[in-house]
Amino acid sequence: MTPKEILKKFYGYDSFRSGQAEIIDAAMQGRDSLVLMPTGGGKSLCFQIPALARDGFAVVVSPLIALMDDQTAALQANGIPAAAVHSGHNESDNRAVMEALFEGHIKLLYISPERLLQEIDRWSDRIPVNLFAVDEAHCISQWGHDFRPVYTDLARIKQKYPCVPIMALTATADRLCRRDIAANLNLADPFTWTGSFDRPNISLQVVNNPGMKNKMRLIASLIRKHPNDSGIIYCLSRKSAEEMTERINALGFRAVCYHAGMTTHERSAAQKAFINGTVQVVCATIAFGMGIDKSNIRYVVHNNLPSNIESYYQEIGRAGRDGLPAHAMLFYSMADMITLRNFAEESGRSSVSNEKLQQMLKFAQAGVCRRRILLSYFGETAAHDCGNCDICLNPPHRFDGTTLAQMALSASIRVGGKAGMYMLNDILRGSLKSDIRRLGFDRIKTFGAGRDLNVAQWNHYLSQMVQLGLFEIAYDESNHLHPTPFGMDVVYGRARIELARYVPEQTKDEKQRRGRIPALDVPTLSPEEELFEQLKTIRMAISQKDGIAPYMVFSDATLHDMAHRRPKTLEEMADISGVGERKLVRFGSRFIQAIRKFEGMTATLPQGSSMKQTLILYNSGMPVPEIARERGLSESTVYSHIAKLIGEDMITQFGTLLTRKQYEDILDIRRRYPDNYSDHLSERLRPLAGVAMAIYNYQQRHAAARTQNH
Ligand code: ADP
Ligand code: ZN
Repeated sequence: MTPKEILKKFYGYDSFRSGQAEIIDAAMQGRDSLVLMPTGGGKSLCFQIPALARDGFAVVVSPLIALMDDQTAALQANGIPAAAVHSGHNESDNRAVMEALFEGHIKLLYISPERLLQEIDRWSDRIPVNLFAVDEAHCISQWGHDFRPVYTDLARIKQKYPCVPIMALTATADRLCRRDIAANLNLADPFTWTGSFDRPNISLQVVNNPGMKNKMRLIASLIRKHPNDSGIIYCLSRKSAEEMTERINALGFRAVCYHAGMTTHERSAAQKAFINGTVQVVCATIAFGMGIDKSNIRYVVHNNLPSNIESYYQEIGRAGRDGLPAHAMLFYSMADMITLRNFAEESGRSSVSNEKLQQMLKFAQAGVCRRRILLSYFGETAAHDCGNCDICLNPPHRFDGTTLAQMALSASIRVGGKAGMYMLNDILRGSLKSDIRRLGFDRIKTFGAGRDLNVAQWNHYLSQMVQLGLFEIAYDESNHLHPTPFGMDVVYGRARIELARYVPEQTKDEKQRRGRIPALDVPTLSPEEELFEQLKTIRMAISQKDGIAPYMVFSDATLHDMAHRRPKTLEEMADISGVGERKLVRFGSRFIQAIRKFEGMTATLPQGSSMKQTLILYNSGMPVPEIARERGLSESTVYSHIAKLIGEDMITQFGTLLTRKQYEDILDIRRRYPDNYSDHLSERLRPLAGVAMAIYNYQQRHAAARTQNH
């Protein structure tokens, strides 16, 4: 089968996304490759399809043990034999997988790097590995943010199997990291693909220091907007993840937390609840979500400034993988900066980390299209503003902020540079907090000079002044703000600055109230949306009955396509994006029935549909007992389908049905006992009689046709 045929048959997709065909082609040619694509870009297909297209199997190295089972389950749902070996399984299961692998029953083996390194020494040179895929390959680089020492030993793959192609994949690699990957894995002249990092369906929003009440209002409005979908809230610490979970639950939503302080059991329960859609929100520390292929994550919130743009981008990339609109909301404050700097210092790699942190801060404080900043960070140039970020949607109004800056700078100078951001804010507004009085800051000339503005406004403007380079933060002196030489120029009137006007964040509810648009209690759904909701209910029922995650049944994008095009037969259903053969047979009719009912038709599928489903599975090479199991039919029913299909010339290959000998035995017994031959057949042969007769008739028919033609 060609890659394109595999794409349709197993995944139900009609065309490759940009880069996939080229990357697959390189692997098929036996060439190493380095694949950089954003999360959700479609990396998995790049190694799965070559694994299927060629003899042997592919080995997929992944550090994400918790998710391997998820990935293999998703493959199995598509009818692809895949399995995982890692420390989360017991030893006898792992051994059974290895046996099945060497017997040729598995096309994709997911394995942890530790385990692969143990195994590889024992493997013979002749085992038929057709590809090594190294996922999350940036873990190999000390310059990345996720270095894993065990990854550096993966160099042994190339030493042992110099002729097997390696495909390294990652969503986050700057130039240095890219070089490390190629060098450490010994890639030979790799085919390199850098996909576009643009995810235009994710709208970007950054909110500076909104205060807890506002923050919760914004989060609540996100959850309310997507009651049946889910979101992730990333928090900096376990404690804040727990607090956030409580706050959300207190508002009547369903949230769980996920962090490294929980037991493995608790964590996998949280992850399951999230994947199955029983909770709406996971409040997580960074440990959550790598590799999750849940396609209906509609929003990702960062409760704090992330420590670098790579992590931020990877985390927001978990939203909207189905390509439908999704939202990324980032909250930050100067206090985050200080916490993160301390983290960086503790990690001992502070100069690289600080550089990355500064870039992140620049993004958060930006006054130009945020997507342009992101794309340029990843080395892409965008010709247009995106129109889908807060800056594009609500361009900042600028004003001459020189006077405000002079006020703040002179206050800072008068207290001898001994005030941090929050203290300076208090001084400017004339707050009589005890610290201020104790230090005598209430007696300086600029005390209270800025009392026309409130805390949030001053916060906003002081952050901008730092960003503009009027102040620097003295991290080694209690994070006090010190005027810079440029700041002094402003003080003396030698330079002027502009500030972006502070606009309080409003939730949609508030805007509606102000604009007097009546807020509807019950949202009215269009027919398409209504059908979509019905299809989701069916998906949930299947998911619960079969014990697989809803997104493994069908993604939201697939259900939307169904709701839009309304397939009423198996053929039409096969045309829907994301409906491969296996899922067509396994789930298709349930959805077709619902659509037919919705359209006011009889729910029953057109005649012959059941036979067609048998045909699809038969053509995919599945043996009859398995077809029967898969379809929940008896073997004799399946055999009768097959006999009919042979009668209609729909099946013309009989080799897997019965042996030549069985066929001849049946014909022989029939010759001898023409009246009641089936009574004389053995148990083994009896179910095959109908098929044997169909084949006999087929051959007679075709022999007759041949003689007529000559
Ligand atoms: P990544 O590994 O890069 O994060 P995935 O491989 O998980 O991304 O793909 C993300 C989503 O896109 C999955 O739901 C996948 O089924 C879908 N997808 C991948 N390739 C295609 C394609 N050619 N056409 C349609 N959907 C695709
Ligand atoms: Zn924009």
